Amino acid sequence: MQIPMSSEARRWQEIARDYADEYLQPHEVQAELNDGVLPDEITERNKQRAIELGFTAIDVPKSHGGLELPLEVQVAIWEQLGRVTNALSWCFPEAQSWMFDACSADQLDKYILPMMRGEQKECYAITESGPGSDVAGLEATAVRGGDDYVLNGEKWYVTSGNLAKFFWFQARLPEEDDEALFLVDQGTAGIKIIANPKFSHTYASHHPTYRFENVRVPATQRVGKPGDGMSFTQSWFRHERLMIGARSCGAAARLIEEALAFANERMIDGAPLSEKQAIQFMLADSVTELYASRLMTYEAARSADRGDDVKAQHARCSIVKLYVSEMANRVADRAVQIFGGRGYMRENVAERFYRELRVDRIWEGTSEIQRLIIARSLLKRGLDGI
Ligand SMILES: Cc1cc2nc3c(=O)[nH]c(=O)nc-3n(C[C@H](O)[C@H](O)[C@H](O)COP(=O)(O)OP(=O)(O)OC[C@H]3O[C@@H](n4cnc5c(N)ncnc54)[C@H](O)[C@@H]3O)c2cc1C
Repeated sequence: MQIPMSSEARRWQEIARDYADEYLQPHEVQAELNDGVLPDEITERNKQRAIELGFTAIDVPKSHGGLELPLEVQVAIWEQLGRVTNALSWCFPEAQSWMFDACSADQLDKYILPMMRGEQKECYAITESGPGSDVAGLEATAVRGGDDYVLNGEKWYVTSGNLAKFFWFQARLPEEDDEALFLVDQGTAGIKIIANPKFSHTYASHHPTYRFENVRVPATQRVGKPGDGMSFTQSWFRHERLMIGARSCGAAARLIEEALAFANERMIDGAPLSEKQAIQFMLADSVTELYASRLMTYEAARSADRGDDVKAQHARCSIVKLYVSEMANRVADRAVQIFGGRGYMRENVAERFYRELRVDRIWEGTSEIQRLIIARSLLKRGLDGI
């Protein structure tokens, strides 16, 4: 499927596709049947190759030794990595551009630049059980005590908590009438895992629940300046929502290709299954929705590269996240149907994506929350403001 794309995006698309095909995809079933975990030497090899290719530096400013690739190019990379199940592409850390606006020189040296080198790994502790989707209502607190802040709160679904070396911890500052992110090292006294539930997908990254009880961190671990509030977390949401769109496009493309190959091979009534119009309609609907999704995702990325108004960008990232994640779920459902019973086996890519893509309608803000953001943007700024 051809859509408009810069030559740089095409070049990186090929690099990422080769990496996904050669380093990740061959290990999917092995990961699926082993709780998501690959042998250490394969995980390490995949990580090292990703670092060599520059994937850890794609969103890092050139002034800090990064590649500072346009978002359009980053979308082209993540689209290809999205073709692979079991989150095998999460084998390298991602230093993102907003972190360079947010962090002090010391924080960059200790946390962010080592991420670019593959030496640090992060996890995000934002969500809480009470406020849930309502991130404006977070209850975790940070209270100043001398040269430290004292953090308290319970954080749910902390992805990669079992692998990460540090947390981004979002808290309210009741005494300062403010909110802020904090960088907190794993193992700091007062951090406890209170649950580690199993989820539908089979990933090496777990999503534990943490309790922070009187966790003392130096005040220098606070990110940004007074008044920054949730702004960096919102930057993170925009980036992730766009990349969920990219990965969902890659997943849908893989599903269509695999379902088509199967339908061409599978003989029913003496003819390939792909000759049945019922199957053709499922494939046609999937291709149509993928075309719309890819155009939308790349255009949203390009509009950010052009420097369009950040509020318009915020709404567009929600549009992409909403439409493309739901599209990929529909495509996965059709792919399972085309494969029949084979599509219900865990060794089948359609079965794995059917489970894995479901959470893209939930995390980084549910589909309902994306609709609220889009509707609020429409009501405030009108259609021309999006
Ligand atoms: C596997 C997994 C990994 C995750 N990883 C992380 C992570 O790394 N870090 C992190 O901080 N969080 C993480 N999350 C949390 C995720 O972002 C939240 O689950 C999500 O934002 C929804 O919050 P909730 O689960 O509390 O649902 P709730 O807020 O309880 O929502 C329940 C239902 O109500 C709907 N709803 C809620 N409010 C409204 C409203 N105002 N109008 C209409 N409908 C509404 C929701 O759409 C949903 O359908 C992860 C979640 C999962 C499942």
